Amino acid sequence: MPLDLTTPVMYVKGVGPKRAEDLKGKGLETAADLLTYAPFRYEDRSNVKPLSALAPGEMATVLAEVVSLHAPRFQRRDLGMVEAVFEDGSGVRLTGKWFHAQYLANVLAAGTRVALFGKVEFDTYKGELAMLHPEFEVLREEDEEEAGLHTGRIVPVYEAAGKVTTRVLRGILKRITDNLPEMEDALPRQVRDRLRLPSLKDATRELHFPSPETDVRLLNNFRTPAQFRMIFEEFFWLEAGMALKRGQARAETGIAFDLNDRVREQIKKMLPFKPTPAQKRVLGEIARDMASPAPMSRLLQGDVGSGKTIVAAQAGVIAVENGYQAAVLAPTEILATQHYLNLKNVFEPLNYQVVPLTGSMTKKEKDLAKRAVAAGFAHVVVGTHALLEEDVEFRRLGLAIIDEQHRFGVLQRKTLMRKGVSPDVLVMTATPIPRTLALTIYGDLDVSVIDELPPGRKAIQTVHKTKLELEQVYSFILREVRAGRQAYIVYPAIEENETQSVKAAQAAYQELSDVVFPRLKVGLLHGKLRPDEKEAVMAAFQRGEVQVLVSTTVIEVGVDVPNATVMVVENAERFGLAQIHQLRGRVGRGAAQSYCVLVTDRLSDAGKERIRTLVDSTDGFYISEMDLKLRGPGEFLGTKQSGLPAFRIGNLLRDREILEVARAEAQSFVEHPPAADELERAVRYVREHWQRRYGLALIG
Ligand code: ADP
Ligand code: MG
Repeated sequence: MPLDLTTPVMYVKGVGPKRAEDLKGKGLETAADLLTYAPFRYEDRSNVKPLSALAPGEMATVLAEVVSLHAPRFQRRDLGMVEAVFEDGSGVRLTGKWFHAQYLANVLAAGTRVALFGKVEFDTYKGELAMLHPEFEVLREEDEEEAGLHTGRIVPVYEAAGKVTTRVLRGILKRITDNLPEMEDALPRQVRDRLRLPSLKDATRELHFPSPETDVRLLNNFRTPAQFRMIFEEFFWLEAGMALKRGQARAETGIAFDLNDRVREQIKKMLPFKPTPAQKRVLGEIARDMASPAPMSRLLQGDVGSGKTIVAAQAGVIAVENGYQAAVLAPTEILATQHYLNLKNVFEPLNYQVVPLTGSMTKKEKDLAKRAVAAGFAHVVVGTHALLEEDVEFRRLGLAIIDEQHRFGVLQRKTLMRKGVSPDVLVMTATPIPRTLALTIYGDLDVSVIDELPPGRKAIQTVHKTKLELEQVYSFILREVRAGRQAYIVYPAIEENETQSVKAAQAAYQELSDVVFPRLKVGLLHGKLRPDEKEAVMAAFQRGEVQVLVSTTVIEVGVDVPNATVMVVENAERFGLAQIHQLRGRVGRGAAQSYCVLVTDRLSDAGKERIRTLVDSTDGFYISEMDLKLRGPGEFLGTKQSGLPAFRIGNLLRDREILEVARAEAQSFVEHPPAADELERAVRYVREHWQRRYGLALIG
């Protein structure tokens, strides 16, 4: 009888309650879930040979038994090599060797039957066959009934789920795929036909147990037609959901701001400089959105220093001149404070009331601010998470600006939006987001990019120095300060541990102010300071009274002191590339030549490549692509709340071109559905699967 795919895994043959728990840990709850648990690798074990038939150099699978095992008895300074000698009755022996593998001593006892897979070597010294670090699987009695499952074919390799090993998974999936029911193929027929995708049922079977003629290299690149289809499908539904959301948003009624001459006059009056062509273009896009009755959902991307703040301020003018309020949400106190001071300045000529609202204000201060916001006296409010608290009510919120959105979740965006009646939303990010991520996280937003820097900027020179060269670095700082400039020295957060990095910065501050720069005014800035202390230090640095600012990464975003020309990043190897690029963006804001010095310990090869990327390039988009490549999407975004959907088969780094195809297909399907009922079916499918599959909610 074919299996019912909604069956809980516990009742799938070979699973049971214990294994079901482990599978649940990977989000696998039904038989259908198991089918989307794709192998991460495939091994061609179809070439099973007796030991006597092996030729050195070939990749082969052998089935053999351990005759003797040699393992180091205690931890020694040698390589902890474990050697097992195997025999299969063909009269030839083979030695398997594993370095640093003491744990194998218990696994490969004499008499154990295994399947070994690896490259055959000939050990000329001993005159025998060997495999170095072969893959192996212990074969047990009960496996005999699964003969031909673990060897003699192209074998799928799964990531273990708790105690459920790849072997167990293989058995379970074999049973499921052998009893597949008819599967309703949710992918629209037109899309399937156009891309010539195999049917869901065929693709599912091939994904787990590829037919013998399949090219293993293609498999391991995840580009067989079956794999393409499964990856495409995962992306397609995500992007269809995004497209539906965009459509929904456009159909909603929001505020149609009036862009009359007075608004334009006011914008001109406020502008402290001539906007760059890119700033003008982007403001045009924003203004068009704001004038239209549909609520704006726009992502504003631009490299550090490209001048996003003033564009956001211009949008603010449009809102306020129309009798609405604008809110600016920032991820950190420092950034919020910086924005607050900045905007207060910018809006000065317009007499706007700008109020801060942050978590570290006293209750009384907060209450005052909240009252001003609720009564509508405050035209612009700038704050941190405190802005999202329930008792913050706006009289008339028209524009929500969210800076550094990737630090916030989608939910927070929604929370702020609900404080108004369909306000326009402008999301800003100073960390250029690689396109693949932008498509998946911000796929429901329109995107504007500021792709040029204000005129007169000189490219920042970046150099790499080791700790041993610190003296040089310090005398360089001294020279710059004597020339009237200022410098930052930044210490990293160690594994997000702010306390530790505060300590490091404090210690460094002592030494720098007492010993290294006794004649300079050195300041200290970190997240544990009280807000007024922070503000005081920042203000002193801004006024040039402090010449060297020692800091933790709290200055990463937003801080804007054009006279600062040196950015020293200590322990640069501990930072993400995008983060260093952010830090570097704190200098090079004036007309003078600026410098960034990356100080590290000795580096691994990978570490060197990372630092080289920064020394060679000042292009934030390029750097963020590299960062994504080197660290992966989760690390890149650096927060669980980042709203990154959990893909089961698709991989954003590997499959970006499939993502692009899926996005285009989904967009055109949603905009021009072949038939109304096809669209309805798709909407239903997205509703039923989105939340669970991607952790995203389709609102409305
Ligand atoms: P970011 O995009 O990193 O937020 P900012 O908005 O902080 O950049 O702008 C960086 C610096 O460039 C600020 O000192 C700002 O006043 C200045 N700036 C922005 N736009 C222009 C412009 N068009 N001409 C001259 N200076 C500008
Ligand atoms: Mg900024």
